[in-house]
Amino acid sequence: MIPPADDAPRTSVALRDSSTAQPSAAGTRVASDRVRGGSGDSAATPDVRASASDTRRGSAGDEGAGEGPTAEGTTPTPRATATEQATPGPSSTPTLTSPPSETPTVTPAPSATDTPLFLDALPDGIHNPPPPFLRLGRPFLPANDVGASATYPYGSDGGGWLLLHHGLDLGAGAGVPVTAIADGQVVYAGDDSADAFGPQLDFYGNLVVVRHGARLDGRNLLSLYGHLATVNVAQGDVVREADELGTVGGTGIALGPHLHLEIRDDVRDYGRTFNPALFTRPREGAGAIAGRRVGAYGRAEPGITVALFRESDEAGAGTTWIAETRSYLWGPINRTSALQENFTFPDLPAGRYVVERVDGGPRSRASVRVEPGALSVVTLRPGQSNP
Ligand SMILES: [Zn+2]
Repeated sequence: MIPPADDAPRTSVALRDSSTAQPSAAGTRVASDRVRGGSGDSAATPDVRASASDTRRGSAGDEGAGEGPTAEGTTPTPRATATEQATPGPSSTPTLTSPPSETPTVTPAPSATDTPLFLDALPDGIHNPPPPFLRLGRPFLPANDVGASATYPYGSDGGGWLLLHHGLDLGAGAGVPVTAIADGQVVYAGDDSADAFGPQLDFYGNLVVVRHGARLDGRNLLSLYGHLATVNVAQGDVVREADELGTVGGTGIALGPHLHLEIRDDVRDYGRTFNPALFTRPREGAGAIAGRRVGAYGRAEPGITVALFRESDEAGAGTTWIAETRSYLWGPINRTSALQENFTFPDLPAGRYVVERVDGGPRSRASVRVEPGALSVVTLRPGQSNP
């Protein structure tokens, strides 16, 4: 039971070659997606969908700079480092000894570049977000629950080694049952050897796609589970949250066994994905951060490395490094209209945190509080230092 094709415009598909998996923040290696055949072969692989206009990214050197062509033909944004107004510090080393802030929510310091581009999006602060944000379930039973690879988040390319990522990778072991993240109906179950769901055939290997009642901007969300070893449902099956769909495997372009979880609003359009971290329920007692890294003039700035530090509950005890991510790269990577986010930190125990740019650019940091089940929205601006 395949819904009719959506009329949304196709966007480009960017490929990045890879031959290595990236370690996760937890120190475990999470097998990720790669392009088979190495750098030369992958770029020559034709896209089987005639309507897709693939744009291949250039060398690793251009990543994040926004010089690459985009499907929309938009004018690339110059590197923010050339326009940020703050005086760069002598080192990009995060300051770990700053005292905890008493400010419970983010209050960005005003600056000349604070163009308010998010008038229709949720403002900075702590939100009980509108469904379906943080309302869908998790793709494993509690006993098998694992977090997503932090070094290969949605919209990243694993530091230049991997494909532009349209989903999240969860490093559960081979054979672990994969479960539906919400009630819905199976719209595809099988392999993609003759039916493309990504930029090429044999990309996801064995996959299941479930269409949910949850809607985003008026469109039903679908969840896609890729690289499965076995598929235990059939097209048309009605499933409930936590029903088993199949088992973790390493089929398609996977480097090794892991689950590739994707959220999209068009069953076959690789350019219509969203960050799953925004929709899966946090663990008990945890919340999530949705961040907006912007450059000069308030425009979303791609490829910026952002670190997350937890502030100690003890005054003056400093902060602890928790995780690191990168803001979404250009390409068919979508921000949600409600959040306009371009980086996320999911599954965070409630508490006080600091997000900070740590890739050598001008210092930029903000404090943010996380509450159980809530979504904390924060905008990270050039030159900002709060606290
Ligand atoms: Zn993946």
